[in-house]
Amino acid sequence: MAYNLSIEEENKEILRRYRRLLRYSKPVIKPGDTKVIRKAFDTALEAHKEMRRKSGEPYIFHPIEVAQIAVEEIGLGPTSIISALLHDVVEDTDTTLEDIEKGFGRKVARIIDGLTKISGGFDVGSSPQAENFRKMLLTLTDDVRVILVKLADRLHNMRTLDSMPRHKQLKIASETIYIYAPLAHRLGLYSIKSELEDLYLKYTETDTYYFIANKISETKRKRSKFIRDFINPIQGELKDLYLDFTIKGRPKSIYSIWNKMKKDNIPFEQIYDLFAIRIIVNCKQEEEKAICWQIYSIVTDNYIPNPSRLRDWISSGKTNGYESLHTTVMSSTGKWVEVQIRSKRMDDIAEKGYAAHWKYKEDPNDKSVKKAAKGSAIDEWIAQVRDLLQYDSSNALEFITDFKSNLYNKEIFVFTPKGDLKMMPNGSTALDFAFEVHTDVGLHCKGAKVNHRLVPLSYVLKNGDQMEIVSHPNQSPSDDWKKIVKTSKAKRVLKEYFNGAEKAIEDHGKDEFMKFLKKHKIKTFESFLDTAKEKYGYESTRKFYNDIGRRKFLTGELKSLILKEQKGNESVALKPRKTPVIDTEKIKKINKTELIIGAGGVSDIKYSFAKCCNPISGESVFGFVTISDGIKIHKTSCHNAPELMASYGYRIIKAKWEQDESKKFLAKVKVTGTDRMGIMNDITTVISSIYGINIKRVRAETFEDIVEDEFHLEIINIDLLTVLFEELIQVEGVISVERLEE
Ligand code: MN
Repeated sequence: MAYNLSIEEENKEILRRYRRLLRYSKPVIKPGDTKVIRKAFDTALEAHKEMRRKSGEPYIFHPIEVAQIAVEEIGLGPTSIISALLHDVVEDTDTTLEDIEKGFGRKVARIIDGLTKISGGFDVGSSPQAENFRKMLLTLTDDVRVILVKLADRLHNMRTLDSMPRHKQLKIASETIYIYAPLAHRLGLYSIKSELEDLYLKYTETDTYYFIANKISETKRKRSKFIRDFINPIQGELKDLYLDFTIKGRPKSIYSIWNKMKKDNIPFEQIYDLFAIRIIVNCKQEEEKAICWQIYSIVTDNYIPNPSRLRDWISSGKTNGYESLHTTVMSSTGKWVEVQIRSKRMDDIAEKGYAAHWKYKEDPNDKSVKKAAKGSAIDEWIAQVRDLLQYDSSNALEFITDFKSNLYNKEIFVFTPKGDLKMMPNGSTALDFAFEVHTDVGLHCKGAKVNHRLVPLSYVLKNGDQMEIVSHPNQSPSDDWKKIVKTSKAKRVLKEYFNGAEKAIEDHGKDEFMKFLKKHKIKTFESFLDTAKEKYGYESTRKFYNDIGRRKFLTGELKSLILKEQKGNESVALKPRKTPVIDTEKIKKINKTELIIGAGGVSDIKYSFAKCCNPISGESVFGFVTISDGIKIHKTSCHNAPELMASYGYRIIKAKWEQDESKKFLAKVKVTGTDRMGIMNDITTVISSIYGINIKRVRAETFEDIVEDEFHLEIINIDLLTVLFEELIQVEGVISVERLEE
């Protein structure tokens, strides 16, 4: 959609959007707030007045929309609205943080500061994005609104990604799937998370996205009828009870359908749980549990439930605040249907997540203790993140990986001997629990008892276990503990412990080395050290000292070097150190050009095809600059792509194919069909006789009546492969043709 408004229409549109924002803000702001919001709007309007977005729209549309998302879709209040309006002002214009603080106070200034820090330095040649993510998470513990506004910002950018150039689309989409969607999930922002995921798919696998979207809309009518029939008897009974309720059919997101198709390897038609039925009841909070169970019994009176699929997240909610009652029942057509039962309040929290949770928690009219207890799960999670952050990891990537594993972990609950409840990540061991109790208890842990029975330290905790740790002052960590611990806290403490121990060993080793030098009157410390390292194959000085410290390497051996040293240095040529360095200057240069694949001599850049996805000429690809192996060409749909793009964006280069029919690519193809005489012959005839494609390898398997043939083919480009697929599926008996990755 091209943008073409006159200045007059444009100004009208800006005002229209601003008024809509105010309308939505009404329920969450006090009378005095409107003035400050107006001031923020005016400041942003003035600051961005010369700027336009890539689409041609005036820039101010963006902050207004971000504020709109913050209030409408996350349920945030005035501070966040003001911060959202101002979020790009410090970064993109002459306005300073001091100006913001003067005009809007310290709170807003700190949020803007956080937002500016996150967005800065994503450019080519800068430190890896991982470092930025880490900064972002640091702000989480400062003020969670920074992350919430950032998510609103990211959502709007994803919604308007169309006008961005292709390589930017891929980079932004990858970052989104890699960190922002999981973050939204963890904060309980369910609708934002699924929209982010769907948009990711739309830009990385456009065909798949539209294929599924079309299928969903094609089957809509049938689905609506099914839902109407299904809820009809339930609706009647609920009305008889005079309950204030709504029932809707909730379709699954495109992304989750796609994941299911991939994971279970099934076509769209075979996914039975395309939607869930949701019953939302409006009632007083103290009655909601009873009413939800009452509705449950009405549902299960009408349809037979599957007892193994009952989920009660009302009695104990999920860590991200989610509460609901889920059951799966057999419909009259023989299909299983998931039914979700919840109150209006629970639904709000499920959709809007943390912010809504907050709102309910801080409702001054409600002083029930139950709510405070529910809030603590998130508080506890934030405390864990804070703990993770305080450890100044030198490797930001390792940190992100660690954090991501914490995002997806489900927690379990165990009891202390006194009966206190402790939350631990799923998969934690008895040793982790010891570290959770106290660092010292962990470091001197000797054994553990679960429900009064002795267990090994590697015992994996189960929900409801009663834990008791036996410790002794003489006990100290051993090397294999590193393999036992799972929590980031225990890992950190151990790492620090071992680093400390290693340091002591190294210091000792260095002392020994110095003593040796002194004893033999060697004055050329530096060059002797280099000679010794070179001779015995040490790259790192620390490792060298460490081995001496552990007496793995005895200084006596160094005697043989003394003579040479005294003769002078000519006999020992010192090689320059070979640490791999990423030449960012060179990458910057490469980045401006586009890598043309298949052409001889256009560039002297060495490239090869990634083994993880085996791209074929014509497919959407990108180049990734490796440290020691030149440039690797990956498909944009490669399963490694999101991580590469999100973590090393500055090492991604554009790549495009040149028409070059002399080059052949490996394509692994699997053909499945029902067995009949001559089917293999028909398939190979199509491949080699009709299309003249060379078959490098064949593997055929038959079980019962199904044949599975795997071919390694030499293909000149993706178009040929597409045509071949269309032809192969026509062969009598063939059920499916698919491309295999790897
Ligand atoms: Mn922005």
